[in-house]
Amino acid sequence: MNIVLLGPPGAGKGTQSGAICEKFGLLPISTGNLLRKAVREQTKLGQIAAEKISKGEMVSDDIVIGLVSEFIAGHPDTGFLFDGFPRTAAQAEALSKLIEIDTALLIDVADEIILQRMGGRRVCEVCGDTYHISANPPKVCGVCDKCGGKLVIREDDKPEIVRHRLEVYHEQTQPIIEYYRGFGKLISVPGDKTPEEVSALVNEALENV
Ligand code: AMP
Repeated sequence: MNIVLLGPPGAGKGTQSGAICEKFGLLPISTGNLLRKAVREQTKLGQIAAEKISKGEMVSDDIVIGLVSEFIAGHPDTGFLFDGFPRTAAQAEALSKLIEIDTALLIDVADEIILQRMGGRRVCEVCGDTYHISANPPKVCGVCDKCGGKLVIREDDKPEIVRHRLEVYHEQTQPIIEYYRGFGKLISVPGDKTPEEVSALVNEALENV
C-alpha cells in the first residue's frame, strides 16, 4: 500500500506519520526531512535547497522528484507514506509514473490555527525529529528523545515565513487535493483536534479504505 499525506504546513502530518507507518507497515518519506538533512550535511543539493527553504519557497520539481525516485529505487518491496510530496501538479504526475498511490489522506486545518500552532514547533538540530511544546512535547524540555540533540525553532517556522508557506500551499498544493479526488482516492480528516483525536480519525478513515 502507498499513501500520500496532504495538508498545509503544520497540519500535523509529521506527527501522524509514525503511527500510520507502524500500523500499516509503511516506510515514511518526507521530502522536507530529506532536504533538511542535505542542508545539515552541506551537500551541493543542500546549498541550493537552503535558500529556498529559509524563504518558504518550493525547491525545484527536478530536485525533489530526483530525491524521491532515488529513495523509492533504494527501497524495493515496501509500501511508502509520502509526507510533503507531491506538492505541485508536476510532482503528482511524476509520482504516478513511479508508483501506484492507493490513498491520499488530507489532514485539513484552517490557516488561523496553523499560525497559532507554529510558534510551538521544535526540531532536533542533529537528527531532524520534530516536536511541539504542548501537542507533542519531548520527555526533557529542549532535548530530543531519540538522539539527545538540541531542539530549536525551524528558521521557516517564523510567522512571516509561515504566512508565505501557506500562500504557496493554497496556490500550488491545494490543486493536488482535487487531483486525487478526481481519481476517487481522497479521504479527509479534520486536523484541528488533539494529536490523539486526529490519530483515531485517521485510523478509522484508513481502515475503511
Ligand atoms: P516541510 O518540512 O514538508 O514543511 O518542508 C519544508 C520546506 O522544504 C518547504 O517549505 C520547501 O521549501 C521544501 N520542500 C519540502 N518538500 C517539498 C516538495 N515536495 N517540493 C518542493 N519543496 C519542498
